[in-house]
Amino acid sequence: MDEKILIPKIEVKESFIVPKSNIYKEEIIEEKKEPEAKKTYEEVTLDLSYVKESYQEEVVDNEKVPMMYPVGLVLGTYIICQNELGMYLIDQHAANERINYEYYYYALNNSSDEINMLIPMNIELPVNEYLIVKENLEILKDMHFDIEEFGINSFIIRSHPTWLPQGNEELAIKKILELIVLKEKNFDRNKFNDRVAMTVSCKASIKANDNISLDEMEKLIEKLRKCKNPYTCPHGRPTIIFYSIYELEKLFKRAM
Ligand code: ZN
Ligand code: ZN
Repeated sequence: MDEKILIPKIEVKESFIVPKSNIYKEEIIEEKKEPEAKKTYEEVTLDLSYVKESYQEEVVDNEKVPMMYPVGLVLGTYIICQNELGMYLIDQHAANERINYEYYYYALNNSSDEINMLIPMNIELPVNEYLIVKENLEILKDMHFDIEEFGINSFIIRSHPTWLPQGNEELAIKKILELIVLKEKNFDRNKFNDRVAMTVSCKASIKANDNISLDEMEKLIEKLRKCKNPYTCPHGRPTIIFYSIYELEKLFKRAM
């Protein structure tokens, strides 16, 4: 038997075509660098409650993504949805990351609330990093961190902005310090906020291989529909792939 299985090329509608970028590759490597302990089914919940309805309704009037209805999850990663136009595949991590990114970017630019830490956080850095952070404490103070030099090559943080992801504050703070150490000479506030939002949103998002419930899928889609740029994650990867009814019919040779 010499039969080949033909996998036809799928033409994707123009609006779903995403610019290719190196960042896309970088992110995948970055994600693999720090593998997280595998969660069991029960532990996985998609918490989007902090992305307040009022925030999304305020800033967004988005009819770009049509209504669609989830029918299931494949490989713990891709949500399958349908509507009268056809079928959609949604990458749950990329979608969650887009939602988080827009929320954090908004919060970074608009929120001035801070929260006192129950136990102040003491951070010791290698000398060279310590010196760079020391020179740039104003950036952190502008972000509503209460941070001071404290002992040798160390800082103490007594309060932080409220938007830091709950339960992941320490990791987020370390990532922000890393970005400060790596910052370019001509510091650009918007670019910096963009990097911070990108880093924090990736860490705060549900990963591939996490099984979420239908209910959670619905919530994710609803939040994604309200995003300003729903079709890509902040690194440029697609969030939604669409197959029209006609494309599906062509694939199954029901239509020519
Ligand atoms: Zn990511
Ligand atoms: Zn991404």
